[in-house]
Amino acid sequence: MTSTYVYVDFGAVRIQQYLTRTPGLRGHRAASNSLAQATADAAVKHVVGDLAEINRESGEADGVVSLRFPTGASEEREGRVRRLQDLVFAHLRRVLPGAEFHSVWGEGESYLAVYAHVLQPKAHRGEVRHDLPPTAEFPLAVPCRMCHTDPAVGIEPVLDGSLALCLDCSMRNVPRWQTVADENSPEGRLLRGIGLAPAPDGLTDLAALGSKDSGRNHLATVAVDGNAFGVFFKALANEGSRDEELRTAKAEISSALSDATRAALEVATLELPLTMEREQLCVVPHVVGGDDVLVSLPADQAWWFTLTFLEEFGRRVHEATAEVMEKLNKLRADRPGLPALEPPTASAGVVFARARHPLNLLSESAGQRLSEAKRAYGGRRASVQWLDITADGPEAPAHPPLALSVLRSEGRGQTPAAKALSGLVKVPASHRARLMEALRGGGPLTAAAIADRVGHLDAIRPFLPPFPQHDQPPAVGIGLGAALGLARWWPCA
Ligand SMILES: [Zn+2]
Repeated sequence: MTSTYVYVDFGAVRIQQYLTRTPGLRGHRAASNSLAQATADAAVKHVVGDLAEINRESGEADGVVSLRFPTGASEEREGRVRRLQDLVFAHLRRVLPGAEFHSVWGEGESYLAVYAHVLQPKAHRGEVRHDLPPTAEFPLAVPCRMCHTDPAVGIEPVLDGSLALCLDCSMRNVPRWQTVADENSPEGRLLRGIGLAPAPDGLTDLAALGSKDSGRNHLATVAVDGNAFGVFFKALANEGSRDEELRTAKAEISSALSDATRAALEVATLELPLTMEREQLCVVPHVVGGDDVLVSLPADQAWWFTLTFLEEFGRRVHEATAEVMEKLNKLRADRPGLPALEPPTASAGVVFARARHPLNLLSESAGQRLSEAKRAYGGRRASVQWLDITADGPEAPAHPPLALSVLRSEGRGQTPAAKALSGLVKVPASHRARLMEALRGGGPLTAAAIADRVGHLDAIRPFLPPFPQHDQPPAVGIGLGAALGLARWWPCA
């Protein structure tokens, strides 16, 4: 008889919003760090004792705790889940007073099967147990001066004076060295992985690392998330129940995917021209989950970073899943109505704004761009959507998301679009702004007429519809409006 387990998962709700709810990078770092520490294996083991063990079948991710215990008598099961949840919630609450947590559980032979058939559907239906921050004991307490969210519990010295802080902001009010030196924090781990000087103290200092032409006051916020992992895991869980080899492959694949995320982050960070020039960390990671990443970096580095990350992640995941994918697709071919699976990829949302723009709004906008990118390609291709808040305002962008393959060809060769963008970047910025105005006012032909007059028609021609079939898309796959937007932060070759 095969043994079955009860799996109990814990996670933070809207974690990116929570981490970035205070104004300064110092507070975000402290919260990221506390979260990583609180959810580290050793801390969780200490809390749960003999009640459960760490679930090694799931991949590693910040802010996520996965536990399991052998299924025993049914009357005892729910009580044990409840006790576990009480313990873990209390522990997380102590460390992260202002966060919201949830927990979901289910039982079965393997984590992936339980995840695909029980945990994910339950979470989707909202059948989870929530743990919310306690409401104020004294309703008349002054609000916290840092987050303006929770009531203050005391007055504390901060960098410049003293402030009334809530419990959560008090946790965030620690010196920088305490958080960056920690090897569990996303930033500490990245530093340890690639060995560079630490990133600057604040977001304005980070923006100041950009090139002279960038104005040195703009940052990009990049949110990345894997595509179609749910579909893949579900297929794996279904076929795994009939195939021994697939069953054993499952646990390895989970950790191979979180490894691919970390490796892609390291490679994309190391390969930035700015990193090489300064030998300093120029990317500040806020969240690094299983296949889920949120970072800030100087605006003029964002396209390098994003395209390299997506390509590197796709390549590594492809390698790690190739064998299993082939086997799965052979099995699926025998079953009518099941389409062949594509290897999972990742998509990105990129938002450009001034360094002083609140990070919580940027992280929310980057998340929305990420959803647009995923939706546009049904999660079946690596894709990207972006927004430049300074140039275009905070509303959803007018241009459609792009597939990664339009901007980057395999093996880092230039695509026709990337080549054309390198040409467009050479047109002076003031002139590109005029072309954008002409495009918005009169359409592509008006813009083309102006470009022709000043001798830049060749630079914009690849982004114009072919003449005379004006309703056809441009040959390089990007329209002029999107190209002018991309060119603002496109790296000069
Ligand atoms: Zn606060």
